[in-house]
Parts: sequence; C-alpha cells; structure tokens
Amino acid sequence: MTVSAETLEEVQKTRWRNQWKELKAQVIDTDLCTGCAGCVISCPHDVIGYDHEQGGYIPFHLEDELGPDDCIHGQKGCTSCTRACPRFGIWEAQADDHLFGRTRSEDEVAGIYQDILLTRASDKTINEVGQDGGLVSAILLWALEHDYIDAALVSYLEGDKSSWKARPGVASTKEQILQSAGSRYTYSANTLALDEAREAGHERLALVGMSCQSSVPPVMWSRRIGKVAKPFVFNLGLLCSKTFDDAIFEELFWAKYGLARADITKMNIKGVFQIWTADGGFHEINLKECHAWTRDGCNHCPDFAAEHADISCGGIGENSDWTLTVVRTDLGREIISRMIADGVIESRPGDSDPGAIALMRKLAEKSRRRWPATAEQSVSLGIPAKK
Ligand SMILES: Cc1cc2nc3c(=O)[nH]c(=O)nc-3n(C[C@H](O)[C@H](O)[C@H](O)COP(=O)(O)OP(=O)(O)OC[C@H]3O[C@@H](n4cnc5c(N)ncnc54)[C@H](O)[C@@H]3O)c2cc1C
Ligand code: SF4
Ligand code: SF4
Repeated sequence: MTVSAETLEEVQKTRWRNQWKELKAQVIDTDLCTGCAGCVISCPHDVIGYDHEQGGYIPFHLEDELGPDDCIHGQKGCTSCTRACPRFGIWEAQADDHLFGRTRSEDEVAGIYQDILLTRASDKTINEVGQDGGLVSAILLWALEHDYIDAALVSYLEGDKSSWKARPGVASTKEQILQSAGSRYTYSANTLALDEAREAGHERLALVGMSCQSSVPPVMWSRRIGKVAKPFVFNLGLLCSKTFDDAIFEELFWAKYGLARADITKMNIKGVFQIWTADGGFHEINLKECHAWTRDGCNHCPDFAAEHADISCGGIGENSDWTLTVVRTDLGREIISRMIADGVIESRPGDSDPGAIALMRKLAEKSRRRWPATAEQSVSLGIPAKK
C-alpha cells in the first residue's frame, strides 16, 4: 500500500502531538523497536534511559512521576522522541519523501538508489583493516580531509579488541578511523556517541550505522525535530539482516565450539558465520545454529539495505575484498565520484557481479516480510501477502 502525496502532505500539516506515551504503546510494546537510540539522543529533558548491554538495547522512561508508560514533559507538549523514531507511524514514506522527493515504487524493495557499484580502498592498509573493501573507512578519511565532516559516530571494541564488546564512539583522526574499522556482529547504537562528539566541539558529523540507525536523521529532518538533527551531515549505512545478542560468545561459540572470545581475531558472515582465531584457525558455524541468539530488536526489522543512507555498504559479492556500494543521494554520488576521480578508491559497475545485486534484492525482500501485518502497512510495499 503506497502512501499518497496527499496523505504525506496531510501528516506534514497536522500538528504533531505524539509523545513518549504513543512511542511506548506503538513501537516499544509492539516489539517494533530496534534499539537505534534515536529517541534517547533526541530527548531534550534526558528522561529516556538505555542499557547498552546484553539483553538491553531498548529505551525506557526514567521518571517515576507518571509511571513507565507516560511522560510529564510529553503531557506538556514535548514530542521529540516520536519525531526521531524510525519505526513510528509512516516513517518509511516520510524518510523516502524527504530524501528523494517521492516514495518508493513496488519494485524498489531495497530502497531508492542512483547507482550500484563495487568499490575498494586503493590504499592496501585501509583495504586490509576494512571488513570488506574498506570503503567506509576510506570515505570517512576522505570526508575528514576534504572538510565535509569534523568527525564520525562509529563503533569500537571496549578495552582491547579481545573483549568483542561493541561500543559507540567518535572518530576524528586517521588512527581512530582505522581503529574502528571492521564489523562486529553485536549491536552498537552509534547514535549514542552524539553527546561525546558535541562535547568535543564537532559540529558536522557522519553517522556510520546499521540500517535501523541510518533512518534516524532523515526521519528527524522530515518531522522537523530541530537542532538535534543539525550535526548529521552525512549518513553511511551498513547492510544488515540481524545482529546477535552478546550472549552468543559464551553460550554458543565457547560452550559448543570451545572458541574463547579473547582468541577470536576476526568474524564475518558470508552465508555462514566465519570465525578466525589467533592460532591461525578458521571456523564456520551454520547461521541456523546462531538464530536463537538474534537480538530481539531485529526480529521485525524490514530494512536490509540501509535504505535511508547517503551510501549503503555491504559485503555480498563474489570478491571478499570489495564493498557493495549503493549510492542513494546526490551527496553520496558527489563523494563517491570525487573519490574515484582522486584515485582513493577503485570501482567497477555493480553489473559486473549480478549475483550480488540479486542477493541484495532477495535479502531485502526477506527482511521486509518480517514487518508485522498488524503494523503500518505501507512498509510492506512490494511484498506479496503470505498465502
Ligand atoms: C552487525 C552487522 C551486520 C551486517 N550484516 C551484513 C549483511 O547481512 N550483508 C552484507 O552485505 N553486509 C553486512 N554488513 C556490512 C559489512 O559487514 C560491512 O560493514 C560493509 O560491507 C562495509 O565494509 P567496509 O570494509 O567498507 O567497512 P569498514 O571500512 O570495515 O568500516 C566498517 C564501519 O562499521 C562500523 N561498525 C562495525 N561494527 C559495527 C556495529 N556492530 N554497529 C555499528 N557500526 C559498526 C565501524 O565502526 C566502521 O566505521 C553488516 C555489518 C554489521 C556491523
Ligand atoms: S526504534 Fe529507535 S527511536 Fe524508536 S523507540 Fe526504539 S530506540 Fe527509540
Ligand atoms: S536487523 Fe540490523 S538494521 Fe535491522 S534492527 Fe537489527 S541491527 Fe538494526
């Protein structure tokens, strides 16, 4: 079901009155919440809490006054949390319309885009530390050097790398960007690093985040949230079908396979969960076995292809050291074209690996089928109803 231009205009014209009470009832209690922390960073009264820990990753209200389901500031007219939430109301159509001036058509199951490329960092070190082609890190470095951004909100590992506990953080130097490279398959709400970036005086930020997080800035802009959205000037999304609860390390990798967290040097998902260990070992674990540790917030997520990013990046493709690169906005195209012209990335047409594009479509459809039939139906666009 498409959202018509008239409906969008009507929503824009109607006074936005939704507050925490509606967010809790329509997103959190219905299990649509991804844990993206958009509401947390947008709350001007700092009354939304969040545990960035195993079994957490869901916002909750911190004040006792009206109980967990209502907010006194909301009663007085504050609506910031729902203006930031990319699972509230007709979020997808609003973000599409804001970014692209139209909503998607039936066949755009992986979102609206301009180009699909395969790219990789020309610099060997960046290519090697990157999860796939090192494109994300190469873009951040180039965007810093060319004054597009002051810093990026990224994900690090807590302590030394052997903890495998992902945490949000700020990268404003080459060393920090390289330190944050690579993928962790547990959740990192990178949006939460916004305060740290602002405290450090960074005003123009790139957000690197999973699909769910990359919808936060466009949804905020479309609902005119105000100054909290201003620092987000560039949006890099990571293709994603799920993240895992941190418990997977102890309860599966260690308990069944004897793989200690501290011995793991790299992980990847290519049809199977691939794990490299410090002793030179390589292990493959069937993804079906990992399924039980899927983080709750991912179970109803419809967005595989980071469909509201300027550029979306993934690792599906026949060559493991290239990044599948979905260029969506004019800004994304400008940055990629200038980087190609500068020779800092190599690129080839996405059509040179048609299997990758077909797989992206297939996985995008699969994710869209997870959106519940009881939720906003425009998000099921392009997916035939189950028989
Ligand atoms: C949890 C997760 C699931 C993914 N699932 C898929 C998938 O199913 N199919 C697919 O094609 N691609 C998937 N990707 C994307 C893929 O793994 C690469 O991130 C992407 O191809 C970019 O590679 P790169 O070499 O260009 O990035 P790099 O240069 O290595 O940069 C990666 C960036 O991602 C950030 N990052 C790492 N881990 C996280 C995290 N957990 N949360 C938020 N930010 C993080 C880093 O801080 C860094 O800035 C997933 C990534 C993650 C993190
Ligand atoms: S989806 Fe994100 S913005 Fe919406 S309630 Fe959950 S954490 Fe908050
Ligand atoms: S599947 Fe990925 S994009 Fe969707 S909620 Fe989970 S982490 Fe976010």
